[in-house]
Amino acid sequence: MDRLTKSQRSRLMSRVRQRGTDLERRLRSALRERGLRYRSNARLPGTPDIIIRAGKIAVFVDGCFWHGCLLHGTMPKTNRHFWRLKIRRNRERDGEVDLALKKLGWKTIRVWEHDIKKSVNRVVERLLNLASPRLLAERTRLTSRRNIRAKYEK
Ligand SMILES: [Zn+2]
Repeated sequence: MDRLTKSQRSRLMSRVRQRGTDLERRLRSALRERGLRYRSNARLPGTPDIIIRAGKIAVFVDGCFWHGCLLHGTMPKTNRHFWRLKIRRNRERDGEVDLALKKLGWKTIRVWEHDIKKSVNRVVERLLNLASPRLLAERTRLTSRRNIRAKYEK
């Protein structure tokens, strides 16, 4: 039996979830600082936490507990069976979402909670590197279009 009552348990779990949104906020503000344009809560499979249109990158911030991180995914001492199934189901769903996004041409990046805690800047670097070829291509296209206009449209 679970030592916590139902309401105690749900209060505890909502705190865990709250921490997740806090990590997303940290990542978003780090992206803003670097001038990377993103959107949140896009209407895409799985509702990615962040999307970067340049590069078609969908980012999910996965909590170590909820997504069963091998390094920090602890199993509650009680109701083990329930939690094991729940976390396994979450992981299955992650795979389904990744596949659905892939079919739509989106690249999925799953960022672990512990990656953000360790170094949010490194996560941002990774996203910048992924997005930059497209960003550069767009910029070049815009510049060359402007050059053509400057040449012929006088
Ligand atoms: Zn972890």
